[in-house]
Amino acid sequence: MTGFDHIPANLSEIKTRIAAQAKAWSRAPEDVHLVAVSKTHPAAAVEAALAAGHRLFGENRVQEAAAKFPALRARYPDLKLHLIGPLQTNKIRQAIDTCDAIESVDRDKLAQGIAAELAKSGKRIDLFIQVNTGEESQKAGILPREAGDFIRRCRDEYRLPVVGLMCIPPAEEHPAPHFALLGEIAKRNRLAQLSMGMSGDYELAVQLGATHVRVGAAIFGARETKDR
Ligand SMILES: *Cc1c(COP(=O)(O)O)cnc(C)c1O
Repeated sequence: MTGFDHIPANLSEIKTRIAAQAKAWSRAPEDVHLVAVSKTHPAAAVEAALAAGHRLFGENRVQEAAAKFPALRARYPDLKLHLIGPLQTNKIRQAIDTCDAIESVDRDKLAQGIAAELAKSGKRIDLFIQVNTGEESQKAGILPREAGDFIRRCRDEYRLPVVGLMCIPPAEEHPAPHFALLGEIAKRNRLAQLSMGMSGDYELAVQLGATHVRVGAAIFGARETKDR
């Protein structure tokens, strides 16, 4: 497949479904943001989405984001990019230069590094704290029982602009309890934004309070690389 004709149609269908789901649960459709996850797809695919009027994107690797997005941003200055993958401390500066939000803040060293770089650059970005709701040893994210203290340190000690929480539920479990748990932790800590839900479960995520759904394959098509 060389063309990108499927992208506007997919975007339009997903936005319709999100709006319908929001209305069904008495939520304002404009409170749910579709993060179009373009990882592994070429800049031309992102451009097809931009041409269709979409502006919010997600990438899971800083280097890929830095390779693809600055040229697109020059032509679409209102484009927004969220980093949704794990961030190493040596890439913090590049992440802040390239992205408008980091959704994967999950440890003190990273939080402190982001605070230092933000102070240096004077740039303002939004931060989400990633919670490992399934307590999977191989997965990034702060454990649910440690989330409250970590959120407090991020806000009060490191003075970070934390806006919400993000989770990636275990692939083999039903996502509903994980979405619900993320919502409870956010409520307890008075955080307004919830990034949860992907291609297979974004409607359920909207039902359970998502303000950001991160959808890749259902917009851009299947990825060839299976591990991400
Ligand atoms: C790839 C990815 C997504 C999108 O997954 P799809 O199944 O393609 O919709 C969402 N969130 C994160 C963190 C990802 O890495």
